[in-house]
Amino acid sequence: MEVEVKVRLPDSTSHQKLSTLLSPFHTKTLLQENVFFDGSDSQLSSNLAVLRLRFITTTATATAPNHCVLSLKAQPVISQGISRAQELEEPMDPTLGRACIAEPWRLLSVTDSAIVERVKQEFGVSGLVCLGGFRNVRSVYDWQGLKIEVDETNFDFGTCYEVECETGDPERDKKVIERFLEDNGIGFEYSQVSKFAVFWSGKLPLMETLKRHLPVSGQEGLHELRKFAIRFEEKIYTAATSQSDYLRKISLKMLTVETKCQNPRGNALP
Ligand code: MN
Ligand code: MN
Ligand code: MN
Repeated sequence: MEVEVKVRLPDSTSHQKLSTLLSPFHTKTLLQENVFFDGSDSQLSSNLAVLRLRFITTTATATAPNHCVLSLKAQPVISQGISRAQELEEPMDPTLGRACIAEPWRLLSVTDSAIVERVKQEFGVSGLVCLGGFRNVRSVYDWQGLKIEVDETNFDFGTCYEVECETGDPERDKKVIERFLEDNGIGFEYSQVSKFAVFWSGKLPLMETLKRHLPVSGQEGLHELRKFAIRFEEKIYTAATSQSDYLRKISLKMLTVETKCQNPRGNALP
């Protein structure tokens, strides 16, 4: 079981301020590239399971080869700034990892992997699709006996700042972290959803809704539609005051698109 305290910082100013305060306790900075997979029939996402390949470069040793971790998270629950999930992690050869992105079936043919076995047996997956992903810069601090991770995550539609801390005593450590942020005038709120959920909600629904209702032809048309969807989501993301507010606004917007498209006199583009 992975248990983490997870709080969201409102903006880059808060992120900068926290990074400066924690700088004496800095141990390393990791560049993480996260790529997600689902079963061809959405067997993982429909069961709230997340299959991820993470490529990690440690900035201090950037010349060393990246390492790569395969992980499966299941039954995630986030509540009041504390996230709990079943987690399996396995190291993977980075070259093989890259090959699995290009040809996801390769991942299922990896032998001696408990994760791959579980994906096949428990979730009934026989084909995989790659969902894409996002990059994250993670600064790690050893502060007051806690391993504090400060994340700057770049989605297509915006940047998100988050503080995470894996802990055996989340209630106590959440208070310690909150107190530190409050004492230093750094605003925060509890993360409502995982970074994967933000990525997923920002990436697909609007695009899919638009595709259903706006006739586009060929790659060029799709490209234009995607640019539109990204601009659009960026606007909503910037205006949103939190992740839940973002999710609410984007759902409303999709409803608007659906309604307008059902009304022949309505304007198709919101
Ligand atoms: Mn973990
Ligand atoms: Mn995490
Ligand atoms: Mn973690």
